[in-house]
Amino acid sequence: MKIDYEVVIIGSGVAGMTSAIYLKRSGVSCCLLEKEIPGGQITKSSSITNYPGILDISGPDFSNIIYKQVTDLGVTYKYADVLGIDIKDDLKIIKTDMGDIITKKIIIATGRIPKKLNIHGEEELIGKGISYCALCDGNFFKGEDIAVIGGGNSAIEEAIYLSKICKSVTIIHRKEEFRADKILLDKLKNISNIKYKMSYIPKSFNEKDNKLASITIIGKDNKEENLKVKGCFIYIGQVPNSKIFKGLIKYDREGYIKVNEHRKTNIDGIYAVGDVVKKDAYQLITAMNDGVIASVNCIEELKN
Ligand code: NAP
Repeated sequence: MKIDYEVVIIGSGVAGMTSAIYLKRSGVSCCLLEKEIPGGQITKSSSITNYPGILDISGPDFSNIIYKQVTDLGVTYKYADVLGIDIKDDLKIIKTDMGDIITKKIIIATGRIPKKLNIHGEEELIGKGISYCALCDGNFFKGEDIAVIGGGNSAIEEAIYLSKICKSVTIIHRKEEFRADKILLDKLKNISNIKYKMSYIPKSFNEKDNKLASITIIGKDNKEENLKVKGCFIYIGQVPNSKIFKGLIKYDREGYIKVNEHRKTNIDGIYAVGDVVKKDAYQLITAMNDGVIASVNCIEELKN
């Protein structure tokens, strides 16, 4: 069988692109496979302020710089949807909607996808008021009352971003306390158009004329309230994007791929990096760190 590349990286978020930079600089032939736009989750972040060395940069700007680094190095970039992986002796055959790709090694960098609430009206109203990306869709709600659901760093960061565009932002959170970082919570204190519905659980999204019109939420006393909003941004966490590897790669109950300290999976020659791997901190830096470790180990194995 003719080998197309020594290494194929599936997913071009920051972890995958970091792997590509290190592999290519070592002279390894590699290809980045992506089904959407380069950059992954970080392209949906309005502002990055905790990356040492950079004071403040938007997610799209940050990923564009890395993308330029990758393409300037001459890494092959292919748009394809990966359907599965077959193993033939020492080689791996990646099945995609654009045909098969044969490689010696694979780095899985498929990241995570937004978690859904799975309540009435959510699925039907996606793109009609419901969104999982403030940076992509925030401008559709200029001067409107909107809601953000969640209490983590993403929810708070994006609520702050949306407060500059929308008339009001109501944060709906299921607990009395947010889990977001203190520095973000301190910023909230100075924003007058952010309101709070603490200890409220969303029950349903209600439509009028095929658009989101209100959210039914339930308080501690089990009383229902109807919150009139034109938009709702859901930030309740993410789930690993690992389903396509089911049956081949070992992952935990939640779907996070199990790796050792070299970022190797249970299959020889297949690594996993970034948010698709179980870890203590889901940060840009930790994703990039994984990318470096996997590629350095890949390079060493290829030499041998
Ligand atoms: P997260 O930290 O997991 O927070 C998810 C939030 O959604 C929590 O407040 C959680 O409530 C709530 N939630 C979960 N399931 C829910 C449900 N079914 N109904 C209602 N609420 C629900 O997720 P994230 O904010 O997307 O962040 C993901 C990771 O990326 C984290 O490690 C985070 O620190 C990191 N991140 C970092 C930055 C930064 O450093 N600036 C920015 C963005 C993200 P409970 O609190 O009650 O569990």
